[in-house]
Amino acid sequence: MIIPKHEHFTDEQVREVENILAEFNCILKAIKGRTRTIYAIHGDEREELMINRLEGLDYISRVDTIQSPYKLMDLASELARHEIHIAGKTIGKDFLFIAGQCTIDPKNPSYFYETAAGVKEAGADVLRGGVWKPRTSPHSYQGNADAIKILLEARSRTGLPVNTEIMDEEQLRIAVEAGVDMIQVGTRNALNYSLLKKIGELTAHTGIIVLLKRGMHMGTLDEFVCAAEYIVSCGNPNVLLCPRGTVPALDGYRNHPDESITPLLKQKTWAGVVVDPSHSVGKSRFVPQCALAAVAYGADGLCIETHCNPKSGIGDDPKQAITPDVLRNLIGDARQMVAFRGKYLS
Ligand code: PEP
Ligand code: MN
Repeated sequence: MIIPKHEHFTDEQVREVENILAEFNCILKAIKGRTRTIYAIHGDEREELMINRLEGLDYISRVDTIQSPYKLMDLASELARHEIHIAGKTIGKDFLFIAGQCTIDPKNPSYFYETAAGVKEAGADVLRGGVWKPRTSPHSYQGNADAIKILLEARSRTGLPVNTEIMDEEQLRIAVEAGVDMIQVGTRNALNYSLLKKIGELTAHTGIIVLLKRGMHMGTLDEFVCAAEYIVSCGNPNVLLCPRGTVPALDGYRNHPDESITPLLKQKTWAGVVVDPSHSVGKSRFVPQCALAAVAYGADGLCIETHCNPKSGIGDDPKQAITPDVLRNLIGDARQMVAFRGKYLS
């Protein structure tokens, strides 16, 4: 990773650095943070001669050769000072609430508008709404690109930034062109490295935030952080990690709740952690408990499926969405817990 002396390299400096890297079969990727741009080296950045040549350039402050599988996400990375802002909130300083329907029903847009107004009134910062859906059965509703118009209409009615999941490059392009504020990578794509790279490239310098779910089959925490590294190293440092339960499930829940991994992630990476209790437990009546447990464990935010009338919803909403009324109470209680949990967090 190359740290420039000034805010960023000039075009000429980029060309000079790229030429040096090319001699060592490496390539340069710019990662634009809020205050300055740093440059990742794709390839083997421990090549000594290459490092010496780079450090000889007077516009380079230093070359970090962090010995970590996730040089950019590592706590020791220059990016550890990066700040992610959305809805007037700074991740890590302000607690973030994402809420909204699992799935937007294009046949009943009025439900989504009512949900959007309800979650806003309850205190949510970001509105979620599934346009395309990864469904276990190919016979279940798969989503519909038209629903993106409903998502954007709800944004203009409420003023809330919006989040939606994409599963492939075409959906990614549509979502980026439509100007969504947050893109979700679901549990099934969490290790789809070519998609993660594309997301990093196509959302680089857009300000779009990527909410990366933890793969349901994921093993080590390093595997999770490395998945985020793919996105960041391709240009977008605005990544949030989202634990959402893993398999095998705890008998009675949808998955095995994993909100307790937050303190462990915090020992490895600077990335914000936004926990999804809805898919973890999979039943609306357990969602508030799981959400508060996540807050106690030090999460930076929550992503909660919420529907104005869950039994009329589609996708996961009938079984796991809470109502805006329940959300309002939960947000109040979570805020109280955030105010006193600090003494328990190491
Ligand atoms: C969702 O958020 O609706 C979803 C499908 O999530 P996950 O990928 O975590 O199952
Ligand atoms: Mn869902």
